[in-house]
Amino acid sequence: MLLETRNVSTFYGQIQALDNVHLQVGEGEIVAIIGANGAGKTTLLNTICGVHPPREGQVIFCGQDITRLPAERIVRLGISHVPERRQVFGTMSTLDNLILGAYHRYGREKKEDIEADMEYVFQLFPILKERQKQMAGTLSGGEQQMLAIGRGLMARPKLLLLDEPSLGLAPLLVREIFRVMAELREHGTTILLVEQNARAALRIADRAYVLETGEVALEGTAEELLADERVQSAYLGKGYRAEEQQTGDASS
Ligand code: ATP
Repeated sequence: MLLETRNVSTFYGQIQALDNVHLQVGEGEIVAIIGANGAGKTTLLNTICGVHPPREGQVIFCGQDITRLPAERIVRLGISHVPERRQVFGTMSTLDNLILGAYHRYGREKKEDIEADMEYVFQLFPILKERQKQMAGTLSGGEQQMLAIGRGLMARPKLLLLDEPSLGLAPLLVREIFRVMAELREHGTTILLVEQNARAALRIADRAYVLETGEVALEGTAEELLADERVQSAYLGKGYRAEEQQTGDASS
């Protein structure tokens, strides 16, 4: 297993946001976490990447206990977190945002390796190359999301944590972001994906977990969850079956 959370419980003061969460992510997988607002999805990612450690339980990455490590150490070990609402540095250029994503690699790794990763990001998102001198705050929402993912990739992660990458984007851009996720998996990057767009998430994921009020309510292969009646009625909307049959495509 690349990542495992064991009996993880996370609190905000007295408020319990995660309750005894067990989760596993294997190398090369895309694993989705779906659930309603406030279910604890963002908290789970923050718990894994060291931003908000759990009160109880353990986070194991590559066989190492990372539960109490500072977030910066966790990045160095190979976990990149792309937070919700694409928090790019608005007054810096697109290029500088990408360079910042690799800040801990300069001086430790060959410059050519970092430059090759930059080229890889530009190949995934050609628009970022065109916009490299532009201030990040003036990019469109979709471009900022691409930049946020690109910046995460510049750390050369083994595991990419993506929090709601499709939030607020037009359907065409949502498709683009999901296409890139599939390409990243082909390239060997493992992804843990938080999504409200459960349909799109389950279409791309290998496995998924359903979080309800901080607990894992269901887990299984994406195929199993797509076929699950509770998932269909709670997260996919009533028209799901009909739409699938009509178009054979429920990715947008
Ligand atoms: P959303 O999709 O709305 O982001 P989520 O599934 O990511 O929801 P979380 O943001 O992880 O859910 O929130 C889980 C629970 O923890 C919610 O009940 C929320 O109100 C609470 N919570 C989150 N952040 C804080 C905080 N800083 N202080 C207190 N409670 C918080």
